This record gives sequence, structure tokens and C-alpha cells, in this order.
Amino acid sequence: MSKILRQVGLLGLPFDHNSSFTPGAAKAPEVIRHTMVNGSLNTGTENGMELKANPQWTDCGDIVISQQSAFVEDIQRACSELLAKGIALLSLGGDHSVTYPIIRAYGEHFDQLNILHIDAHSDLYDSFKGNRLSNACPFARIMEEGLCKRLVQVGIRTLNAHQREQAARFGVEMIQMQDWAPKALPSFDGPIYLSVDVDALDPAFAPGVSHREPGGLSSRELINIIHSINAPLVGADIVEFNPLKDIDDMTAQLSAKLVKELAGKMLLTIHQ
Ligand code: MN
Ligand code: MN
Repeated sequence: MSKILRQVGLLGLPFDHNSSFTPGAAKAPEVIRHTMVNGSLNTGTENGMELKANPQWTDCGDIVISQQSAFVEDIQRACSELLAKGIALLSLGGDHSVTYPIIRAYGEHFDQLNILHIDAHSDLYDSFKGNRLSNACPFARIMEEGLCKRLVQVGIRTLNAHQREQAARFGVEMIQMQDWAPKALPSFDGPIYLSVDVDALDPAFAPGVSHREPGGLSSRELINIIHSINAPLVGADIVEFNPLKDIDDMTAQLSAKLVKELAGKMLLTIHQ
């Protein structure tokens, strides 16, 4: 089953209770939305789409989490209701723990989902500091539940022995940062969901993250990855932007640019 998507919706997930290091990502949706309308950028995308006054581009507001222990259920339920209306979700974290419930919702509506996960970290820990729902664990939960047919990770540069074991156990395809080249990106068959952890970017481009890991992607490399995806982009998230760690709004501006380019790609998907 595959939903017929009619709109692309921006969705805020102001939630960082599962941050394993420095909280602050909960403030990201508000800061990104502000950046998109403060006059610093226009609303045209590089692939020729226009967000302003576009009836296929909408803002779904924020998901209110009733209590921390209910965040999986709250996010899954809200995302599933939006998908049922034919809205492809472009979600703004929040820490990376939000991707697990989002993908559970996608699992209710899409078979054979591919996930492209761009991150400095593989986020495959079975448990981190005693928390199995930590921002270091979402892709372990996703793979355990068989919520995607294929997980491809790009930009990874922090593997330890446990994460190597987990990747092998789950059959994760990984393009580590040391091996990165545009031609290393595989082609995909069927719908694709793109999860962008902002710390995949080099801290020189994106200092506003909780876990700065040098040696990452440039802004242009990440934008080119978005443009080069050869399959229907049915959902995406931008997570781990932490405004409290930003320098002169550099990462806010980059996150807003990523919203535009992801929205452009998703709008192209629903046009096709
Ligand atoms: Mn990360
Ligand atoms: Mn992550």
C-alpha cells in the first residue's frame, strides 16, 4: 500500500527529552520557521518550485507531547493522521529520537520504505545511558521492527565496536564519511524517507548542534545529495539543530535552506 500524497506539510516536533548530551533542539522548529519568514531568504527552491502561496505546501503546526513517556504514541498517532490525509511530512526536530515514531507512522501507510539517514553517528545503540529511546538509538528500534526494507547511512564518522556489530546484525548499508563520494550513493527502488541529522555537516558549516563532530559534509554536498535522490521522496526530517549552540544564526539559516530544498524535492515527488 502506498498513500496518494497531495500536499507537503511542515511539522514541528519541539522535543528534546532524549538528548543524550546537550538539550536545546526543542527550540529548533520555532527558530527555523522564524528564519523562513524573517526576510533573509526567498521561497524559491533550486529545482524550480515555489513555496509561497503554493496550495500544495502547508504548515501542520507542532505536535504537543502530552508527557515524555508518551512521545512515541503521541508522535506516531499525529503523523499517521496527517499521512492518512495525504500529507507528506517534512518534520523539524527535536532530537533524533523523534524519527522512530515518525517511521512507525510511515510503516502504517507505506510498504517497502527505503530510509536514507545522513548523520555523523549511526544511532544504532541498543541502549544509551540506560535509555532505549535515546537519540542514539532510533535506528536500532526501526530495524528491530522491520519498518524499512533498506537503511542506507551516509556521513558516519563515529563508529565503535558495538555499533559495527549492530550494523552487521541489521544489514545496514553504510557509507562512512571517510569513503564518501557522490558516486557512492546507491540508487533506490520505491519510496524513500530522508532523515537529516544536522551534525552530519561539518561543524564549520553547522556549529549549532549538540554533538559537534569535525570532518563532515559541506552544505553543498548535502544539498546535492537531496537533489540527486532518484526515487519518490515521501518524507523527511531535519533533527538535532540546537539553536543554543548556534553562532550568528549560521545553522538556523542552513536549516531553513534545507527545508526549502527538501520541500522542493518532495513537491516534485507529488507532482509526478
Ligand atoms: Mn548525529
Ligand atoms: Mn542522529
